[in-house]
Amino acid sequence: MANVTLASRRAVVIGAGMGGLTVAQALAGHFGQVVVLERDELPPEPMPRPGVPQGRHVHALLAGGLAALEQLFPGFAQALAAAGAVPIRVGLDSRLEQVGYDPFPQRDLDLWNYSMSRPLLEHVVRQFVERDRRIELRDASPVREIIASPDRVGVSGVRIEKRRSASETLRADLVVDATGRAALTLDFLHSWGYGLPEESSIAVDIRYTCGVFILPTDTTLDWKILMTRPDPRVSGRRAIMFPIEGGRWILGLGGVNGDSAPTDLPGFLDYAATLRTPTAFRAVRNAQLQGELTRFAFPRSFRRHFESIPAFPRGLLPIADAICRINPSFGQGMSVAAKEAVLLNQVLGGWTHMPDVLSRLVPTFFNRLDTVLADPWAVAGQDYAYEHLINERPSEFSEKVNFQAALTRLAAEDPAVHRLMTEVAQLLKPSSVLRESPVAERLAQAMRVKADPT
Ligand SMILES: Cc1cc2nc3c(=O)[nH]c(=O)nc-3n(C[C@H](O)[C@H](O)[C@H](O)COP(=O)(O)OP(=O)(O)OC[C@H]3O[C@@H](n4cnc5c(N)ncnc54)[C@H](O)[C@@H]3O)c2cc1C
Repeated sequence: MANVTLASRRAVVIGAGMGGLTVAQALAGHFGQVVVLERDELPPEPMPRPGVPQGRHVHALLAGGLAALEQLFPGFAQALAAAGAVPIRVGLDSRLEQVGYDPFPQRDLDLWNYSMSRPLLEHVVRQFVERDRRIELRDASPVREIIASPDRVGVSGVRIEKRRSASETLRADLVVDATGRAALTLDFLHSWGYGLPEESSIAVDIRYTCGVFILPTDTTLDWKILMTRPDPRVSGRRAIMFPIEGGRWILGLGGVNGDSAPTDLPGFLDYAATLRTPTAFRAVRNAQLQGELTRFAFPRSFRRHFESIPAFPRGLLPIADAICRINPSFGQGMSVAAKEAVLLNQVLGGWTHMPDVLSRLVPTFFNRLDTVLADPWAVAGQDYAYEHLINERPSEFSEKVNFQAALTRLAAEDPAVHRLMTEVAQLLKPSSVLRESPVAERLAQAMRVKADPT
C-alpha cells in the first residue's frame, strides 16, 4: 500500500457545481482516474437546474475567482468572452453606492473581469471538464452514501442510486464532497463516531429577489455593475445589477430581518424605489422582465471546522460550500471554490510520486485552508453591523469598522490605494498587503485623525 502512487488511484467527486468541477480539474493532474457524479441531468445549454437553485440569482465572479479559473483552465477568460460574457473594467464600470459615497469614485484601475449568468459560467467550466479525457463526468447519478473502509479509519467509495436498477458501488481512494450541503460527509462522520465539526456562524437573515430584464434600447448608463449598499442603521435594503449574456441584465434586491422584495413586478419596482438611491429603480422602471422573479433566503454564513475533528477519515474531503457558505451579498462563494481547487492542486503538486499521499493530503489541505478562507470570512463579519441580528460581536469589531472607514476614505482620494483596496476585495491579493508600509502608516494616521478630529 505504502508505495502506490496517486497515478493508480481513483478520486470520486460528488457534485458537478462550481466546487466539484474545479476540484476535478485540480485532481486530474495527479490521480489516475477522476469520476464526477452529479445528481441532476446536466443540460446541454446554459440554463438553471434543480441541483443549483441559487443559479437563477445574481452571481458575480470576483477577479480573483477568474484568475483561479484561468490557472485551472488556461484560456478560460477567452472562452467565457466567446460564450457571451460581458467584459467589465473593474473600478471604471462599477457604480458603488455606499453611505458617504453615492457613488464612490469610478476610475480605471487597469483590472478586468466579466459578468454573466451563473448557468453560463458553470456551463463554460463544464465544457473544459468535459473536454478533459482524464475526467469522467456522470450526470443523473445521485450519491446516497459514502462508504467506510473495512478498517473504518477512512472511506472506500460511494453508493450511487440508480433509477432502473439496484444501487451501484463505486470504489474510490479519495471521495470529495462538493454537494454544497455536506449532508453526506456529516452523515458519515456521525454514523462512524467521528463527531461533528465545530462551526463558526454569523446570522444574516437576508432574502434576495432577482429578475432578468431587457432594458429599453435608448437606455444610457455610465456603469455596468451597480451595487447599492444599505445604511445598516436605517434599513438593510440593497441592490446589485449587471449585464449578462444575450443583451440582458440581472437585478437582485435584498432585504434583511424578514424584509424582502415582492415577486410580482409592480411590487418589485415599488421596493426598488425605496432603496437608499434611485439608481436601480431608474434603470429598470421601463425594462421588460424576462421570465419570473424568484426569491432566495439565506439565513446565516457559516464555516465548518473539519480540522477540529481528531483523526479525520482518510480519503474524505469536503470542499467549497460544504465547508463554508458566506452571505451572497459579498459575491465570494464561486471564487472561493475555485481558489480552494487551486490550493488542492498546489498541495498535491510536489507529492504525486510520494508514498501514502492520501493520509497527508486532507490534513495538509485543512491546515492551509485559512490562506483561502480567512479574508472572505473576515468580510462576512460586516454583518455584525446589523443590530437586529443575534450575533455576538467580536471585541475587535469597532476597530475593524474604523479601519474599513479609513481605508475607504483613503481609496476615494488616492487611485493607488483604490486599486489596492479593490485587489483585496476581489480576492486578487491577501488583506495583509494593507498592513504593509507605506499604506499601513497612512491608514493608521487616517484612523487617528478620525478618532481625534481636533
Ligand atoms: C442567492 C445566492 C446568490 C449567490 N451569489 C453569488 C455570487 O454573486 N457570487 C459567488 O461567487 N457566489 C454566489 N453564491 C454562492 C455560490 O452559489 C456557491 O458558493 C457555489 O455555487 C458553491 O459551489 P459548490 O460546488 O459548493 O455548490 P453548488 O455549486 O451548489 O453545487 C453542488 C452540486 O452538487 C450536486 N449534488 C448535491 N447532492 C448530490 C448528491 N447526493 N449526489 C450527486 N450530486 C449532488 C448538486 O446537484 C449541484 O450540482 C450565491 C449563493 C446564493 C444562495
